[in-house]
Amino acid sequence: MQLPWEYSDFDDHEIVHFVTDRESGLRAVIAVHSTHVGPGAGGVRFWHYAEPAEAVRDALRLSRGMSFKNAMAGLPLGGGKAVILADEARSKTPEMLAAFGRAVERLGGAYVTAEDVGITVADLDAVSKHTRFIAGLPVGEGEVGGDPGPHTSYGVFLGIKAAVRRALGKDSLNGLHLAIQGAGSVAGGVARRAAAEGARITLTDIDRARADRLAAEVGGTVVAPEEIMTIAADVLSPNALGAILTEESIAALNVPVVAGGANNQLGTPADGQRIHQRGILYAPDYVINAGGIINVSSEYLRDADAAGVKARIEQVPVRLEQIWAESAATGRNPAEVADSMAMRLIGR
Ligand code: NAD
Repeated sequence: MQLPWEYSDFDDHEIVHFVTDRESGLRAVIAVHSTHVGPGAGGVRFWHYAEPAEAVRDALRLSRGMSFKNAMAGLPLGGGKAVILADEARSKTPEMLAAFGRAVERLGGAYVTAEDVGITVADLDAVSKHTRFIAGLPVGEGEVGGDPGPHTSYGVFLGIKAAVRRALGKDSLNGLHLAIQGAGSVAGGVARRAAAEGARITLTDIDRARADRLAAEVGGTVVAPEEIMTIAADVLSPNALGAILTEESIAALNVPVVAGGANNQLGTPADGQRIHQRGILYAPDYVINAGGIINVSSEYLRDADAAGVKARIEQVPVRLEQIWAESAATGRNPAEVADSMAMRLIGR
């Protein structure tokens, strides 16, 4: 068996915790990459992996990503992530969630859990009966917390405006053409704000009815999913899925700016260089989409009210400006600059 520190994704992770609970059948991996600036925070994923080694790799890779994201959002949180290894039928029981909660509690706060793929708010609520180290629970009216989507889209919108200012010298989106991939929570918020400022919207979603509804609301046009990546526009805003920026898709882009909230947009680190070499301004995804985690963090740490959360999200474009300025000064691509800034912040 491969030991955690023999994995290529191992990056001096502080803790790699293997959990087995015979009674409930829970098998989980909790990885804490860094607690340099605070407890390792990141969601728990419920996923069926063909090989257990893939679960370890996911936990290692995703927890490192959370260290970078939390640091660049200016949060007093480190990076962590957990994966629960589901069976093929993806059976999930209350006992399993309880055992997971106890495992998180045993780590004494080194890891703070939250929602991720395959975990619902109800699941999280069940976990919360067994640990204090948890965020992203439903909140009451007027309290900080709840759905991160609107907060993410506010940060993405501000990031798009910053990119437009830098690449096109314009202070408003009025009259500009935005191509938006996705018509979900984040995309919807971006489209509404941009349309309110006078932008022309072209959008797509594999869920055609969802795309039609959003287009009707913002006065936009719907195109087929395969068309959005090649459309001539001022901004391409990916807000659906990851790994969309590849050698092939980058060569076909017809925009001066790519700025959107989807996670892990670059297929490989080399694609960060490719997009840069084409002279397209790229907003590193984990920096521009930090609004949601900023909101979740304030819920957990209870260190800001709604106005404070908004003010923190308004730092997203400031951070992007720093990245682009360093990129311009050094010739390094923005994705690479963001990673090295994050590493400095976490003392690596
Ligand atoms: P969502 O589920 O509300 O919306 C995603 C939409 O993308 C869905 O309508 C889906 O049908 C569509 N889609 C999937 N594949 C597609 C394809 N090939 N072409 C076009 N559309 C496609 O999700 P969301 O919360 O809006 O998140 C969107 C992205 O932003 C995801 O990558 C997510 O990881 C990322 N993100 C979200 C948040 C948040 O707070 N919600 C925070 C950070 C990052």
